[in-house]
Amino acid sequence: MNNILKVEKIEKYYGNKESVTKAIDNISFNVDKGEFVGIMGPSGSGKTTLLNCISTIDTVTTGDIIINNNNITKLKSKKLEEFRRNELGFIFQDFNLLDTLTARENIALALTIQGRKPSEINGLIDKVASNLDITGVLNKYPYQMSGGQKQRVASARAIVTNPSLILADEPTGALDSKSSRLLLECFEKLNEDLQATILMVTHDAFTASYAHRILFIKDGKVFNELIRGSDSRKEFFKRIIEVVTLLGGDSNDVF
Ligand code: ADP
Repeated sequence: MNNILKVEKIEKYYGNKESVTKAIDNISFNVDKGEFVGIMGPSGSGKTTLLNCISTIDTVTTGDIIINNNNITKLKSKKLEEFRRNELGFIFQDFNLLDTLTARENIALALTIQGRKPSEINGLIDKVASNLDITGVLNKYPYQMSGGQKQRVASARAIVTNPSLILADEPTGALDSKSSRLLLECFEKLNEDLQATILMVTHDAFTASYAHRILFIKDGKVFNELIRGSDSRKEFFKRIIEVVTLLGGDSNDVF
């Protein structure tokens, strides 16, 4: 097995002796290279905390997180910054693009920070832009783009550095259904054509149905796991809804 991510017995507590919240209560799982994994769970179940710990934004109380053979719980701040820059790609709900830069410049920034040669930067951007169907907006500023285009530019920025792992936090949260579908089809393409490994947190069953495997989190624990296998996306969607309903959610999508 070629594990890109190993989460081993992690726990995360907030608060002090008088009042402790166990946001993560002994979670372990692995993600293989080229997998597309979704994380679902009700509000307050620990999804954001889990993603923040994996993305090195937050630290675990106990346990280990190993990404591409690096135990990130042991890295010190300078090494951690370098690690984040080289090994991780981030896609946020609100895009996080810089308003004063064009799409091309926003994507280029990720490569410039890595110290890539100016001569190779444009070629890398053009290739990923074609994959994500954003070639036509590369010279536009964020205010000149639709939400869907902005999120595909943000996705290009996340993938262009060829990271070990892409972390997406509610990536369709601010998009209408047509833009969501387009974005998720792009994720599928990045996953299939470029073997991108994607870990995506979402509360939306439609969005989750594009993943190959879903971990359901409840009260800081892994409550269930669904594997898509040979199911079509629609069949997988139905199975997801069943678990969401079991977990006490609304079958329209959300928890
Ligand atoms: P989710 O993303 O699934 O909604 P979170 O990871 O945000 O869940 O939260 C999990 C639990 O940890 C919740 O009970 C939440 O109130 C608590 N929590 C999250 N962040 C903090 C914090 N900074 N301080 C104290 N408690 C927190």
